Amino acid sequence: MDHRVFAVSCEDYQNAPAALGRLLEMMGDAGRFAAAGETLVLKPNLLRAARPEEAVTTHPSVVAAAGRAVVAQGARAIIADSPGSGFRYTQAVLRRTYEVCGMTDAAREAGAELNFDTGHEIVSHPEGRLVKRFEVITPVLRADGLINLCRLKTHVFTGMTGAVKNLFGVIPGLTKPGYHAKLAEGRRFAGMLLDLADLIAPRLNIMDAVVGMEGDGPGSGDLRKVGWLLASASPLALDAVAGGMMGLALEDNPLLLEADARGMSAAHAEDVKLVGATVEELRVPGFRLPETRATGVGFAGSAWWQRPVGALLRSAMSLRPEVVPERCIACGACVRACPEQVIALTEVRGKQAARIDQRGCIRCYCCHEMCPEDAIELRPSLLYRLAHRSGR
Ligand code: SF4
Ligand code: SF4
Repeated sequence: MDHRVFAVSCEDYQNAPAALGRLLEMMGDAGRFAAAGETLVLKPNLLRAARPEEAVTTHPSVVAAAGRAVVAQGARAIIADSPGSGFRYTQAVLRRTYEVCGMTDAAREAGAELNFDTGHEIVSHPEGRLVKRFEVITPVLRADGLINLCRLKTHVFTGMTGAVKNLFGVIPGLTKPGYHAKLAEGRRFAGMLLDLADLIAPRLNIMDAVVGMEGDGPGSGDLRKVGWLLASASPLALDAVAGGMMGLALEDNPLLLEADARGMSAAHAEDVKLVGATVEELRVPGFRLPETRATGVGFAGSAWWQRPVGALLRSAMSLRPEVVPERCIACGACVRACPEQVIALTEVRGKQAARIDQRGCIRCYCCHEMCPEDAIELRPSLLYRLAHRSGR
């Protein structure tokens, strides 16, 4: 595996096509990743129907530029993703998501197609270290290859989301919560993602880091101008570099910790060869990490209390998701996303709103990730505050 990561400065999205062209030239041209007669899936991050300027999804100008590069090689490009775990994988959901996220225009501009095939198949992956069977959406299975188009964002459960985590979108809609339920601990979830990345084996990984998301991403963090487009043949190498850009330490990054434990050589940013920029140039000063980093269940567990304690105490000491009824529009996305089914729509203060039964919550934060109204806040308990003060 080629562990080089290529970086090109890109101040705004108007310059994304030129910047992507330079990136591909640096990597040896688009012909390395697409050939005439092939069908390639372009896999953006389409977490939910969010406008491009919200920085929740991969910017359409990056998707269009990648699509043009593929089509220019004489290949067929299909934009495909299954939105996050709160949304059914239906044609209606796809149509709305494409429209709001700017993918309809991106496809038109690039001469690419939009996927409306909502089928999926179970694929066996005997080489998987943790997971040996995945449900994968049909267009990905039918294609000759996949180009991974992720966005640099923080993530309240996994610390960050980049190239490897973006591949979770090849698993269809409401099947996703099942993975959270079975793999509630961050390192195990990361192990599943590494197995999935190994199965999908994207040909090329491009990261939209023109504007990233800091704070409590990936659905409702804050926009942060970063100013780079990055690419690599290795999704893990790309994430190792992106984690370094954010200032996310190895011990706070379950994906890289798990990759390190598996002996994967791109787990450390220092093992990756950077082309086009230095580590110092890429580093974003004062990048805000998620609040959950200090004590979150999904994180690596380096605080003194996180290692030996059971799930109950871990939950009590983590940030808990709480609904702000005034902001809730009762859309039900959190209800569908919750792997433990502990959220219900009910009457709260004279209106319909979501309510969480904290006793069954495993702190996966899927509800927070999926909420389109920023109506789920992560709040500390007294134990959390005590642990945070005396932990690290
Ligand atoms: S209520 Fe708890 S278990 Fe359910 S989605 Fe939210 S964080 Fe996960
Ligand atoms: S909290 Fe309310 S608005 Fe947010 S996802 Fe749940 S039901 Fe929808």
